Parts: sequence; C-alpha cells; structure tokens
Amino acid sequence: MRYVSTRGHDTALRASQAIVKGIADDGGLFVPAIMPSTGISPCELVGFNYNAHALWLLHRFLTNYSNAELVNCIDGAYNSRTFSAPDIAPITMVDNVAFLELCHGKTLAFKDIALSILPRLMTMALRKAGNEKTQVILTATSGDTGVSALEGFKDVPGTKIIVFYPENGVSVIQKRHMTTMTGSNVHVFGVKGNFDDAQSEVKRLFLNNELKEKIAADGFEFSSANSINIGRLIPQMVYYFHAYSQLIRGGMTSGDAVNFIVPTGNFGNILAGYYAKKMGLPIDKLICASNSNKVLFDYFDTGVFDSSRPFNITSSPSMDILVPSNFERLVYDLCRHDLKGRLEKLSAKEQFQMDVPKDFVGFFATEAEVRDAIKHVFTEHKYLIDPHTAVAYIAYEKFRGANGRDAGMGAKGNEGKNIIISTASPYKFAKTVMTSLDSSYEKYDDFDLLEKMAEVTKGHVPPQFEGLRTRQVIHKQAIGVNEMESAVLKVLGTTPATE
Ligand SMILES: *Cc1c(COP(=O)(O)O)cnc(C)c1O
Repeated sequence: MRYVSTRGHDTALRASQAIVKGIADDGGLFVPAIMPSTGISPCELVGFNYNAHALWLLHRFLTNYSNAELVNCIDGAYNSRTFSAPDIAPITMVDNVAFLELCHGKTLAFKDIALSILPRLMTMALRKAGNEKTQVILTATSGDTGVSALEGFKDVPGTKIIVFYPENGVSVIQKRHMTTMTGSNVHVFGVKGNFDDAQSEVKRLFLNNELKEKIAADGFEFSSANSINIGRLIPQMVYYFHAYSQLIRGGMTSGDAVNFIVPTGNFGNILAGYYAKKMGLPIDKLICASNSNKVLFDYFDTGVFDSSRPFNITSSPSMDILVPSNFERLVYDLCRHDLKGRLEKLSAKEQFQMDVPKDFVGFFATEAEVRDAIKHVFTEHKYLIDPHTAVAYIAYEKFRGANGRDAGMGAKGNEGKNIIISTASPYKFAKTVMTSLDSSYEKYDDFDLLEKMAEVTKGHVPPQFEGLRTRQVIHKQAIGVNEMESAVLKVLGTTPATE
C-alpha cells in the first residue's frame, strides 16, 4: 500500500514514511492510493475484540509493518492501563439509539483512540528507517488533541512535543489539564487567536524550508500529531467496524445498513467513517453534526463550501473550526476534475462548489439546543452527555424529523441502527453540562462542579481530574500567533524556553 499526496502524485510513500512525515512536501495530505475492500462479510468479524479488529484493519493499510510490530503497537495502545472500559469503544443503548463511547481513554475524549497508538507507530517507523533525528511534534489544538497528544508523547524517547492552544478557546478543565502536564519533552503555549489561526500557522511552519533546514542542522525534524497525519485517521476506522460488530452481537442482521451521527470539527472522525464505508462496511448515511460554526452543514445543504465567515466560540470547542483540515481528503476523493482549483480555493478560504455526495447529510445545533439536549437526555434516560455528543444528539433528532419521525428511524425494527458517536466525557465540560441541568449550578466553579457531577450521576470524578484544582501550573506562557516560530526555536535551542 502506497500513500500519495492530495496535491500531486509524485510522492508515493510507504505507510511508515507517511506517518513520520505527517504532511507531504507539497503541502498536501497523504491518502491511501487505493482503498482496500474488506473482502469479507461483516458477520465474520463478530467474534473479534477491539484489538483483533484493529489488527485486521491496520494490517490492510500499514502494509510495511510486520504483524508482530502491529500487535506490539496495538496491545501497547489499547489495554486496561490506557482505557477504563474493557471493550475500549463500548456501545450503550439509550432509548433505541446506540451511543458509541469513544471517551474512556486517558484524556476522556475520542482523540485518545488514535493518539494512544500514533506515537507507537511513529517510533516503530523511525526505528525501521534508522532515523535518529528527534521528532518535534508540532500540534495546534482546539482542546482535546493537545492533552491527548501530550499524554501519548510525553517522555517518549526521540520526541519533543509542542502544543499550541487558543488561549480563550478551550474549557477551564481542558486548559488546566494541558498547563499542568508533566514530562521532560513537553511544551505548551496559549495562543492569542482562535484554533484556525493556530492551525494555519503550524501548517506554515511545517512548510517553511528555511526553518526546517535550521532545525535539521541541530538534529530535529517536524512531525504532526494532528488529524492531518494518516497515522491518526486509519486507527479511527477501527471503531466503525467494531461498533457494527457489537450491533450484530446485539441481534442486528449482518448486512443491515446503519447510520453514524458524528460530531464534527476537523472532519477526521467522519472521514474515517467514509473510508470504512468505501471499504464495504454497510453504512447508509454519515450524519455530519456541526455546532454554530456550520461551514459543513452549509456545504452539505447547498454544495457550496465557504469558510469565510465569523468565528463563534461555543460550548463544544473541539468543533469550533471553520477550515476543517481533513476536508481536503474528501475533495481529493470526489474531484478528479479541477481538483487543483478547488484545493487552492480551500486553502485560500475562497468559496467553491462541489456536488454533495449522497453518503453524507449535515445538521447543526444551536447553543440553546445543546443545553436542552443535555438536560433532556439526562432527565429522561439518566444518561449524561457532553456538549459535543449533544450536538450529535440534536443532529440525530433533526435527521429523524427530516425522515418522518413516526415513519420511524428510531421505531421498532430499526433499533440501534442509528449510532451516535460520543466523543467526550461530560466531566471535561463540567460547567456547561451542569448548568444545562440546572442554572443554580452557575454559582460553582468548574472544579467544584466535577464533584457535583459525580453526586448527580452517582459516579465518581475520573482519576485524571482528581486534584486538578491544586495541581501546579507548569506552562504559563501566552504568545501571539506571530511568536509561534520563535517559541519553537527557543524550545529547540540551547537557551531554555521561558514558559
Ligand atoms: C476532536 C473532537 C471532535 C471533532 O472531531 P474531528 O475529527 O475533528 O471532526 C468532536 N468532539 C470532540 C470531543 C473532539 O475532541
């Protein structure tokens, strides 16, 4: 299996090379040159646990890793020390709809699925290539990637990780989680700008040849843990197959089509679902759920992609994105005709038209709808969801409405065929979640609300967040977007960074 750049066909790399590189030299993203078909019927996968599903799938894409290497990476990533759920990605049925919970990893968000394995795939790749350069993982984060990447890469030999987050664009809990992160190779900076600003600047640094040469002279090389790295996207396909198998085990007929409702930001999660569909998994619709930054909804509604618009800060910060980086991979897949023109417009933030593929449908949720959904699902079903999952829940309701609620996507016979992807634990967004349940929680701070949430749900505060309030803040620095390059140089230089 070879990987080619979305912007040109000249660079056909092997899996391990594409993973180390992160982004192609021409600025494009790596995509599989061909999509392997599953070659089997889904029911043959039913007896598999998560790790067996992962091996079955990764083996088809990461063809220059040996089976033993893949097993080593998979078992290191997915085990009882890294995930609190034995099933890794369990399904909970709530009123006929399946919630696929991807939030049981170390940082309680779906990013952990890919970021538990990416550092392992990367270090394995470096060893294979005899590459001794220190990998500098530059990461822009809208909140969850940062902490998950820090958790995945901290103290990994041969790597340094530098995370940039929008200073005012993440939750209090997310921010404290990142700024208190220990690890000798860990560096975290707040950025005075939004996520798109930070992401564009990181992309620019990746492509700055002068900078690359400068750091190479000192034995460093940039790599990426963002979802532009194909080594994140492919492990995300696994849970689509795993979820389908769980539904068969629950009584669904093998071959029945299902819908996945995906809370979407950078378009990485849902794109993995699209790839799974292309491989032959029986998915009818991929329902793209957006918050009020509804660039994708507007595209799926009208066929015009237009990211130039005001940016909204919402209660689902990991979806506050106007330029979803993985959209480039969809454009590549759909447009062999005038691909270049469209990709240029995409990166220049100019609008363009592209026929809407029938695999997708988009819906969006307002902030008020998100709050209502959190309250409704908890009051009716005693199931507490985070704001991102609530956006998906609203999209699910609108989808059912659009399809005739009584004609019944959720009605009997269709039980569980709609799968909402639950991307974060409500504990990460305690303020929004608790005040959605009852405005009287407004008087407490985020840290008190962790305790209150445990009381209300008769659960317990996850160990990751115990004592978060009093943990020492290590990374205090906030910088301008134009200071990101010098921050990187300082981290890599002989003068210690003054974070
Ligand atoms: C990253 C993230 C998303 C968005 O996923 P994309 O792959 O960027 O579309 C949704 N919810 C949560 C909690 C996330 O961390």
